[in-house]
Amino acid sequence: MPTPISFDLARLRDPVLLPIGEKLRRGERLTQTDGATLFRSADLLGVGAMADAANRARHGDRVTFASNQHINPTNVCVLRTTCAFCGYARLPKEAGAYRYTIEQVLAESDRADGTITREFHIVGGLDMKAGLTYYTTMFRALKTRHPHVHIKALTAVEIAHIARIEKMSREDVLRALKDAGLDTMPGGGAETFSAAVRDVIADKKLGGADYIDVHRTAHRLGIRSNCTMLYGHVETIEDRMEHLAMLRDLQDETGGFLAYIPLSYHPDDNELGKTLGREGIASTGFDDLRNLAVGRLFLDNFVHIKSHWIMVTSAVSQIALHFGVNDIEGTVVREKIYHAVGAHTPQGMTLAELLTLIRGAGKQPAERDSFYNVLREFGEHDSADTVQDVVAVATT
Ligand code: SF4
Repeated sequence: MPTPISFDLARLRDPVLLPIGEKLRRGERLTQTDGATLFRSADLLGVGAMADAANRARHGDRVTFASNQHINPTNVCVLRTTCAFCGYARLPKEAGAYRYTIEQVLAESDRADGTITREFHIVGGLDMKAGLTYYTTMFRALKTRHPHVHIKALTAVEIAHIARIEKMSREDVLRALKDAGLDTMPGGGAETFSAAVRDVIADKKLGGADYIDVHRTAHRLGIRSNCTMLYGHVETIEDRMEHLAMLRDLQDETGGFLAYIPLSYHPDDNELGKTLGREGIASTGFDDLRNLAVGRLFLDNFVHIKSHWIMVTSAVSQIALHFGVNDIEGTVVREKIYHAVGAHTPQGMTLAELLTLIRGAGKQPAERDSFYNVLREFGEHDSADTVQDVVAVATT
């Protein structure tokens, strides 16, 4: 059962929110209908105030981030022509297609030298020539070169792809990857689980039930993971709630999810954007904030709700720190996938910029590891150079 949340109902201007506020105060779990009501209410500040209260009850004013680096080893993908929202993938012989050698991955990873990078976030396309050996060799080489850097790699979709081309079970693939150095999995590839939505935006991609099944298997093997939802395309509010309910159910079952990260759809340079006639118009700030707030309130069994500043801008991410968000995407270094579909945000952020952003929201920045253990707390005048690591403090 969720913890009761102390909250002043007088802050709600929309009367349809009152029964939901009362439920939260009693510590009752919200239904999908409640979640849909939160999405539909125009009282964004009321929804945000409830999410903020739920967030403060868990985290106070602390906002965490990770010093991480994204590496995208291949953009070659067998689903290049069927994922209508993707601008990143290429066919093997198409202009712009690339597949890093292991040496190139290591060279990319060396951008971490002289920085405090603690995590590699590694995702890419479904490349027929990037099988199990490609990734096990890569992870072993990375662990040798950067022994203290955590490897968060391969979405559920990539795991299923490797299993298919290697004719192995997904469980055996996960075991082999874990043995080679895989620490946790990212949450990408979920899109929106609804079959009707997938028929339009990604009809050949791993389905929602299979996405859940790969994460369930990973959790059983001790590989924790994140999860996501892509919103702002053709999905309905009910589709969003069905998706969130599936995530909440798996979290009840395994407790293996570390964080939920809603991802906004970007319509530039992809087929779906042209079909929808929405090139250049990404999600609204209103919808970005509401997705984060509903995530906080409905996913009562998730400790961490994360805002991805690359997708929603650093400005919206900063405001989101008062709409239920306790964690913000980290330094990143060089992001490619969302910039391929029109993200105008920087490709990375310095630690000093992150501190400024979090402090600017009146919050207390803290650097975390990949399991959300706090490594460094930053006081009002501390910089990255003046604060040493503390012994990790578990927050999950
Ligand atoms: S979204 Fe992923 S699976 Fe789909 S085409 Fe792009 S890289 Fe491939």
